[in-house]
Amino acid sequence: MAETRVHFRTCNLCEAMCGLRIELEGDRIRSLRGDPDDPFSRGFLCPKATALEDVHLDPDRQKAPLRRTADGWARIGWEEALDEVAQRFRDIQVRHGRDSVAIYLGNPTVHSLGAMTHGLGLIRALRTRNRYSATSVDQLPHHLAATTMFGHMLLLPVPDIDRTRFFLALGANPLASNGSMMTAPGMPQRLKALRARGGRLVVVDPRRTETAEVADTHLFIRPSTDALLLAALVRTILEEKLERPGRLADFTDGVDQVRAAVAAFSPERVAGPTGIAAEVIRDLARQFARAESAVAYGRVGLSTQPYGGVAQWLLQVLNVLTGNLDRPGGAMFTRPAVNPLGLAPRGGHARHHTRVRKLPSFGGEFPVAALAEEILTDGPGRIRALLVVGGNPVLSTPNGAQLERALGTLELMAAVDPYLNETTRHAHVLLPPTTSLERDHYDVVFHLLAVRNTAKWSPPLFPPAPGAKHDWEIFQALTRRLKPRFRPLRAALDRLATPRRLIDLGLRLGPYGWRTRHRLSVAKLEENPHGIDLGPLEPSLPARLMTPGKRIQLAPEVLVRDLARVERELLSEPTVRNGELLLIGRRDLRSNNSWMHNSQRLVKGPERCTLLMHPDDARTRGLADGQRVSVRSRVGRVEVPLQLTEALMPGVVSLPHGWGHGRAGVQLRVAAAHAGVSINDLTDDRAVDTLLGTAAFSGTPVEVSTGS
Ligand code: SF4
Repeated sequence: MAETRVHFRTCNLCEAMCGLRIELEGDRIRSLRGDPDDPFSRGFLCPKATALEDVHLDPDRQKAPLRRTADGWARIGWEEALDEVAQRFRDIQVRHGRDSVAIYLGNPTVHSLGAMTHGLGLIRALRTRNRYSATSVDQLPHHLAATTMFGHMLLLPVPDIDRTRFFLALGANPLASNGSMMTAPGMPQRLKALRARGGRLVVVDPRRTETAEVADTHLFIRPSTDALLLAALVRTILEEKLERPGRLADFTDGVDQVRAAVAAFSPERVAGPTGIAAEVIRDLARQFARAESAVAYGRVGLSTQPYGGVAQWLLQVLNVLTGNLDRPGGAMFTRPAVNPLGLAPRGGHARHHTRVRKLPSFGGEFPVAALAEEILTDGPGRIRALLVVGGNPVLSTPNGAQLERALGTLELMAAVDPYLNETTRHAHVLLPPTTSLERDHYDVVFHLLAVRNTAKWSPPLFPPAPGAKHDWEIFQALTRRLKPRFRPLRAALDRLATPRRLIDLGLRLGPYGWRTRHRLSVAKLEENPHGIDLGPLEPSLPARLMTPGKRIQLAPEVLVRDLARVERELLSEPTVRNGELLLIGRRDLRSNNSWMHNSQRLVKGPERCTLLMHPDDARTRGLADGQRVSVRSRVGRVEVPLQLTEALMPGVVSLPHGWGHGRAGVQLRVAAAHAGVSINDLTDDRAVDTLLGTAAFSGTPVEVSTGS
């Protein structure tokens, strides 16, 4: 009989960091459950966790490098593949300049320890300004607020959801996401506990989401108008003298500038555009300000709109003015065991601009909404080669069809990815890494965003397949080839610089390391396979601030200036043309990244890629529930089944993201059988927050009519 054993690890499929208890019989997984002894997730897991096993066993997963030939894909050896990619990148840079090679890092890179520890070396070796990542898809507004107000793009306040008495969520659906930019496994229990201790949950969203369903109050808001609501809330608090910054007042600058900046945004004036009555706005401001503790939190819906930068700033202004920043029950800063702040730039907004549309850089990257035009537009500096790491931007970035056309024109595209998906099928060379279950894991990023300080090390569950390479080994091998000087020495150093050693060093030098009673190291975490609890979030300001003089900048000039644009564009001009509907996305508990759609267990059941519409909007268009409808925007058209629901605000329609697997050449057989359509064949690459270049996915104007 095969040996049985139990393995503990952290699920790295989304931001929630759930602890898993995996029972094995030989090399077969017998059961995969939530680990009740994990001090952070306490036994919680969601249905997506099974995808870890499904990806590992997936017959569509590539296990050896592939080269695209006239006759299809051909297997090649690692040395040949790596030599070819590096040599061709270098040749293209010699002929066309450094910036002719670009890199795109997809969302899964932040969930991979190896990509976190070794990705930067590869990026530097490419020596290009054309760096893009999923960060500019939906989170730059958080980073701009953090940089300008607190001094570093990673000084991100996290809702202290376990102690708050008032949770205000805008454009966020934590019951589906289990928190985003707020790592909080077990959201159903955490929200139940909030209600049980007499706290209130208020959700502002154009859709009555799963989270809104359990809220005390749900307010429908017209897409892209959250900045108006937030400005009116701030104004009301100041006008009615409800501000109570408490000890924050000692190190906060700019209250008077904020007062002047929001003066134009009376609740009466924003009521029409937002769809929320003035008295409701005033009432919300009073409740928030008077709560024993309160926190305002906004996520994808708030960030992915033309005014996302301003909205995320005003959200933090609300937290500061009411004294809820850096106090239990408010928005707090974490103290992670491995501190990643040194790995990222402090910010750096608009140091450079894209060649074609002059969109600003942030944190050393350009916004991905500009990637296609940088490939397609001729002239000096045009992108001619691209490395995609763990990403599927054809499905995840605006106007994916245009990006797809652009990818087809590249001299060279290489991808570090286990799948031939909608993006990587355009690669000339595919470099597939090992799966999560074959690697060590430590969450470098998500401990920084977690609602409690903990630390956990996950050893590999399975040995890598013979000849397989981890992502970090691929990065190291490419880096050595791109920087061939002292190659033998580099190879020797690379053998020493494993992710495990780097994390061990980070733990020992960190705030719970050598010099503390915790004495954290990888070995100590291995002795504690469920993870170690390091306690609740604690007040840490002003010491942690990285602004000059360690002061909170409540009114950063760049954001105050942009608020004038909000007034000009949202309060002066009609934003919706007759007959148009505004398209928003939606998150689904059983989906996150597009490759999860190749797991039969995650796509089974009724079709989920449907267009949600309010019955009144359907009636005026003569449309019926279940029929196929045509959805058209400036950039494209899709056909999709219609689903009528009063959970959507009239005038708004919704499609989920990550679908659209019906393209030729994709080798994801389960996903192809549940293809759906891509919302990003409708979203517009021209629609961005001009302050940052973040894609404005929310509120794409569309027309819906009977399908063909
Ligand atoms: S919520 Fe689901 S996908 Fe996310 S970490 Fe937990 S089990 Fe994994």
